[in-house]
Amino acid sequence: MTEFEKGLRQLIALEGPLTVERYMGLCLGHYYATRDPLGADGDFTTAPEISQMFGELVGLWLAEVWTAMDRPATVRVVEIGPGRGTLMADALRAARILPGFQAALDVHLVETSPALRERQRAVLAGSGLTAQWHDDLESLPDGPVLLVANEFFDALPVRQYVATDRGWCERLVGIEGAALTFGLRAEPESLPQRPRRPGDVLEVPLASIAIARALGRRIARDGGAALLIDYGYWGPALGDTLQALRRHEYVDPLAEPGEADLTTHVDFHHLARAAAAEGARAHGLATQGDFLHALGISARAEALKRRASPPQAESIERALARLTNCGETGMGSLFKVLALSHPGLESLPGLPVGTPRPAES
Ligand code: SAH
Repeated sequence: MTEFEKGLRQLIALEGPLTVERYMGLCLGHYYATRDPLGADGDFTTAPEISQMFGELVGLWLAEVWTAMDRPATVRVVEIGPGRGTLMADALRAARILPGFQAALDVHLVETSPALRERQRAVLAGSGLTAQWHDDLESLPDGPVLLVANEFFDALPVRQYVATDRGWCERLVGIEGAALTFGLRAEPESLPQRPRRPGDVLEVPLASIAIARALGRRIARDGGAALLIDYGYWGPALGDTLQALRRHEYVDPLAEPGEADLTTHVDFHHLARAAAAEGARAHGLATQGDFLHALGISARAEALKRRASPPQAESIERALARLTNCGETGMGSLFKVLALSHPGLESLPGLPVGTPRPAES
C-alpha cells in the first residue's frame, strides 16, 4: 500500500467517511503532483499529444479572436491545466503567421503540479517561449485575456448525490473491512433537481462552477474569450460518470487511490450558466470534430502530408481520424467545445452563433 493510501485511510479512521468531492480532490492532488501522466507510457493521451494539428488550430483560433477583439496591444494568453505544454507550444508556433499577435502575447500557465510545471518550462523553452506560472486564476494580471483549457474541467472534483426514498444523500468514501467502499450520508439534502428513481446519481461540479464564474467575470470586465474542450455533454442529466484510468485501462476508482487518473464527464451547461451569470457570452456547444473541421483540419493534414514520408503521412491520417471521428473510434463527437467571450464578441471561429440551446428537461 502506498504512503498516500495509508494517510488517506488514517484520515477516514480519524474523521469518518470523506465526501466523493474530497476523495477526488485528495487523490488528484497527489496523482498530478507526483508524475507526468500523459502519453503512451502514462495513463491517458490527450488531443495535443496525438497531433500538432490540434494545438496549431487552437493557435489560429486565438489569433483570429485577437483580431476580432481589435488587436489589443497586450493580451494575456492563458492555459489552465497545460499538461506537458504541448498545446501552448504548437499554438504559439502556428500563431506566428500573425506578427502583431506574436508581439502582443503575454503567456500565463495555471498549473498546480510541480512535476508538470517543470515539463512545461522545458517544452516552452525549447520553443523559445517564456511564461509565468500561477496556482489559480486569481493572481493573473489584469487586461484582455485569451484562455484555453483542454481536459482540465474533467480533472476537478465533483459532489455526487444518490437518490434514496429519503431524498438526495451525498455519496461518501469509507472503509469496510480492508477495502475502501462507497456509502451514503444518512441525512438527505434538498437540491433543485428532482430524483427520478432510487439509485439515480446527480453530480454537482462546484469547483468547476466557481472557476467558470471567475472566468466569466474576468472576461466580461477586461475583454477576451475562453475555449473549453472536454469529454462531456450539455445537461442537466443524471448518471455516475466517475471513472479511473491507469495505463490506458479503466480501473475501480477506489482501488488505487492517488495512482489512477480520476475524471468525470463535464456538464457544460453548468459552465455556460455560471459564466453568463457574470456577464459573459457563451458560444457552442460544438463537437470537437465539427470545431476542428470548421477551422480547417483537413487542409492542415493535407499540407503536412505533402512534406511527409509515406509512414508519416499514414500517421497524420490516423491522428486526423482519432481527433475527428465520431463514435467510440475517435474523439470527434464525445469531446465538446464551449467558448465564453466578452458580450461584444457575437461570434467566434468554429462555433455555432448564439448561446447554447436550453437544457432538455
Ligand atoms: N491540457 C493538457 C493536460 C490535461 S491533464 C492536455 O490536453 O494534454 C489535466 C491538467 O490539469 C494537468 O496539467 C494537471 O496538473 C492540471 N490540473 C489538475 N487540477 C488542477 C487545478 N486544480 N489547478 C490547476 N491545474 C490543475
